[in-house]
Amino acid sequence: MINMVEEVEQIEEEAEETPVETFDVSYSCLRCGTSVLNSELSRLPEIKCICGFRVFTKDRPPVVKTVKAI
Ligand SMILES: [Zn+2]
Repeated sequence: MINMVEEVEQIEEEAEETPVETFDVSYSCLRCGTSVLNSELSRLPEIKCICGFRVFTKDRPPVVKTVKAI
């Protein structure tokens, strides 16, 4: 018997090298892909995209490792 479990990515607080997230974190709507800043979301009465969808994925922080392609 094989149990297949798919893990669903959720918006969680990531305890990484970043000490405190004071900058704006941007989220992308899962449906239309619109980027919304965390500060803009907190301003709204409810977490909701302009398209009405409520599921967002956290965008990667601006600090990205750059790898030289040879
Ligand atoms: Zn949307």
